[in-house]
Amino acid sequence: MPTSSFTNTKSFPTIAKIETFIPGTGGDGGDYHRQKNGHWILDGGKAHCEKPGVKCGISNPMSGWEQYREDRTSWGIGVLGSLVCIITASDGTQGVSTGFGGPPACWLIEQHFARFVVGSDPRDTNRMWDQMFKASTFYGRKGLPVAAISVVDLAIWDLLGKIRGEPVYKMIGGRAKDAKIPFYLTGPEPTQARKLGFWGSKVALPYSPRDGFNFVRRNLDFLKAHREALGDNFPLMVDCYMSLDVHSAIQLAQGAIDEKIDITWWEEVLHPDDFDGHKLLKQRLPQVKWTTGEHEYSRYGFRQLIEGRSVDILQPDVMWMGGLTELLRISAQAAAYDIPVVPHGSGPYSYHFILSQPHSPFCEYIANSPDGMSIAPVFGNLFLNEPVPHGGSIDVSDAPGFGLELNPACELIPSSQFLAPNPDKGLSLTDDDVREKKLREIEAIKTNGIAANGANGHA
Ligand SMILES: [Mg+2]
Repeated sequence: MPTSSFTNTKSFPTIAKIETFIPGTGGDGGDYHRQKNGHWILDGGKAHCEKPGVKCGISNPMSGWEQYREDRTSWGIGVLGSLVCIITASDGTQGVSTGFGGPPACWLIEQHFARFVVGSDPRDTNRMWDQMFKASTFYGRKGLPVAAISVVDLAIWDLLGKIRGEPVYKMIGGRAKDAKIPFYLTGPEPTQARKLGFWGSKVALPYSPRDGFNFVRRNLDFLKAHREALGDNFPLMVDCYMSLDVHSAIQLAQGAIDEKIDITWWEEVLHPDDFDGHKLLKQRLPQVKWTTGEHEYSRYGFRQLIEGRSVDILQPDVMWMGGLTELLRISAQAAAYDIPVVPHGSGPYSYHFILSQPHSPFCEYIANSPDGMSIAPVFGNLFLNEPVPHGGSIDVSDAPGFGLELNPACELIPSSQFLAPNPDKGLSLTDDDVREKKLREIEAIKTNGIAANGANGHA
């Protein structure tokens, strides 16, 4: 019987090392909210409080407490900060990624997830992801552990692209659209979004039900002022950052319909775990577009949103929900229901995904200058060549991986410096330390007696 002449003799590098760092400067890296006070993303834009009907503040789950109402830094939105992950292959090629999670995420990666990555073939993305996710099930599944897995996964994809000399989008389905990716802008001033060439604008809702019984009226006045400034035919969206419930969301959306304030979609109106709430919203107001997903994690969380068929656009954050490996699974699930997937933020990580997915029609950009009137790279000064939209669109480059080059001027603090003195011992005393301490106490009692040792508290 003839044997195949097609044998694969080409060796492929393996993963030799994984390292984590935090950027030395706030605003650099993947934590969108690590900004200096006064940034509009924290307080809604101070300049706007002087305008009639437009007040600073972003409605959020902490709005019920006066001292935490006006600035999201006050309750700790940027407390974790960014991190950078560098993975080095046996041939010296490096993959780089950023995300959020700061020192706690560095600790998880170095102390737990590294064992599933070092020594692996970087093409084995599914196995590495599965092992990281399953090994952290007892403390993970959502939130910080999955955000840490996301950063590792993105660094592996970057490495793979650099070894192969291909952009990531070419490895996950290739170019699904001929045109550039069109963007809408999230920011405090929709008229500025239009001037900059974006196709639409999303504003943050200023008032939650905890601001008082007139929160509906005040929000409608706020949105009406923006709609009047814009005129017709420019999409306006509203981000509610988990600050409403089913009843108040219906009150608001119905109010906008009654007053002919055209809103293209209402985003993240409910707590992320209120899956059934979305069904009630869709039943009551089926003509309204409801979107959510930026605080949901993994295919298990998104399965509930997809099967409920109540969400009109899914908005996973690829730096938070599990990375590109898991996003592709979610995207396949959503495609079977014809639900668009438009990732939350995430810069170039989202651009490569969007370019490769037929049901991902556009992208979000955040007006990340402090006053929200201009745009800058999503990751600050971390990379030398991060693309930003010009005239409201981007064409993804064919540079290998995610096409990002670390900026040598951006200081990176190795995690070994802040996980000291000895990360091997974890965050608490080891059994050996406890035993030694006990022995020293017993020795002190033998030498000085109980009273001198103070063990019984009386001389
Ligand atoms: Mg949002």
